[in-house]
Amino acid sequence: MTFSRQRGIGSLLLWPALKAALAAALVFAALALAAVPSPYRAFVAEPYGLTQISPTLYLDDPAEAGRVAALIARAEANTAAFFGELHTDPVWVICTASACGDALDMRANGMTFGYHLIVVGPRGVSEMILTHERVHSELHRHLDLTDIWAPRFPAWFDEGLAAHLSGDARLRQPSDPRDADWIRAAQRLWDWNALRGQADWRDRYGAAARLVAEIEDIAGQDGLRALITRVGEEGADFQTEWSALTGR
Ligand SMILES: [Zn+2]
Repeated sequence: MTFSRQRGIGSLLLWPALKAALAAALVFAALALAAVPSPYRAFVAEPYGLTQISPTLYLDDPAEAGRVAALIARAEANTAAFFGELHTDPVWVICTASACGDALDMRANGMTFGYHLIVVGPRGVSEMILTHERVHSELHRHLDLTDIWAPRFPAWFDEGLAAHLSGDARLRQPSDPRDADWIRAAQRLWDWNALRGQADWRDRYGAAARLVAEIEDIAGQDGLRALITRVGEEGADFQTEWSALTGR
């Protein structure tokens, strides 16, 4: 009893310090990585030929500002059509040309860091990809550093929701959601990345989107939103909620 009480107090004291240390480590890593071409350069975007267009938009070519701002507005409208009022306001760092994409070494079309920053490469400058990344940002609004190793939402749900809501028609979705269950192995981000070697991206994102569509088939968009609220805001366990909905 006494021991557990002491450990409890110790944890309370340790926890903010641990979080602060992790935050410092992440910032340090971002700055260190800025020395070599990588998407982490987006944390310090201006030296890499990007121009600040607005407080939340950095762009390689200011002449593209109107077109890109219109795409962002559509992505935000698509995201709000599901979530309602948006609660995050991420900074967008967007490369429209390959020189900028190469400077940031953007191999992905887009990347979302927490709910703060979205980086998009030249192949990702489309309404669909911008919507995908904006959905990530909004889902991440309740998350903190603990979600890196104990994610409230499994990685497959994070990617599946973004793929589902952005209407990505390139994906291969199995007709029976049980044939998509293999993607549930992707709990953490590194589990998701580990599946890269096992399945084509169309199958990975397709399976994840199929499982999210299944939730909508069973419970409707209201049920899907309610699941996100219960897990994101009320502390419910995702797996328990998911099993109650799907029966598996
Ligand atoms: Zn994604």
